[in-house]
Amino acid sequence: MIVVMKSSATEQDIMATTKNIEALGLKAVKIEGTERTVLAAVGDERIAGIGSLESSPGVDEVLPIVAPYKLASRELKPESTTSTTGSLICGGNHIGVIAGPCSIESEEQLMSTARAVKAAGASAIRGGAFKPRTSPYSFQGMKEEGLKLLAQAREETGLAVVTEVVSPDDVDLVSEYSDVLQIGARNMQNYRLLEASGKSTRTVLLKRGPSATINEWLLAAEYILDAGNPNVILCERGVRTFESHTRFTLPLATVAFVQQKTHLPVIVDPSHGTGHTYLVPSMSRAAIAAGADGIIVEVHPNPDKALSDGYQSMTFPQFDDMMTGCQKIADAVEKKLGCC
Ligand code: PEP
Ligand code: MN
Repeated sequence: MIVVMKSSATEQDIMATTKNIEALGLKAVKIEGTERTVLAAVGDERIAGIGSLESSPGVDEVLPIVAPYKLASRELKPESTTSTTGSLICGGNHIGVIAGPCSIESEEQLMSTARAVKAAGASAIRGGAFKPRTSPYSFQGMKEEGLKLLAQAREETGLAVVTEVVSPDDVDLVSEYSDVLQIGARNMQNYRLLEASGKSTRTVLLKRGPSATINEWLLAAEYILDAGNPNVILCERGVRTFESHTRFTLPLATVAFVQQKTHLPVIVDPSHGTGHTYLVPSMSRAAIAAGADGIIVEVHPNPDKALSDGYQSMTFPQFDDMMTGCQKIADAVEKKLGCC
């Protein structure tokens, strides 16, 4: 339910209503909009007595939230949320650009990439230290050594760090080094991981599972929000279909659709979404034209030698060209691309 406070409601009214919501066994989450304060009453709504909230002092009206995801829904928060994590801004008139290798492989590989993507205007460096690989025989990542290199890259370039966490047990360790916790497609419905990330103070980048519906994806985001972390960025990274020309099928309509349903920022991953380097620039431009709040792309000093996802990674000059093309679209939609 949404408890809409009157514009004249006092802090005392808000506190008293919060207590009334909690007395019904629901959790109260305060959301301050530009014009009004609303309290989300979340939990099992089949309880009696919710109507009694209407008579609390300062309450204007009590409305149901129709969407199954409550805290993520635009019904609750009509204004779009802008996510700001150091140099990475996604939302408002900012298009965040997260770029870097699929996996961190060496100091030279990561540092050269961080310098190159920074020079081309990226807002954050990505790189996997814990890799969720389809085969147990594939490179699994440099783990904590890789995280240390990410922290070194941030130190030198000032770029925010985005890296994947694959297990709830690793959330604290990854949070020590990273600004944004990436929850990968394969883990979108790992509910213990969602809860653990929801308890972290780091921003969470939640990728869509390749076979997940949008409702399932937004309910996964709801787990993070419900655990107390309001900083969630959604990422469309392609879904599995009958088509085999591309690694996944990248549905860009997701961007506009999800922006109707939720206030959370949504970004696009055209590297995993297509699986082909040559498709990444055009799909990045298309994502920006569709209104995406950011993009995340793979860049490697020598994609032919990459230990993972080389076939979809751009070289430094290719990334630079991609940014030039994206800048034209960003200008057309009157948004700011990447970092200052
Ligand atoms: C990645 O970003 O390298 C990755 C593994 O992505 P996804 O979870 O979307 O497959
Ligand atoms: Mn990858």
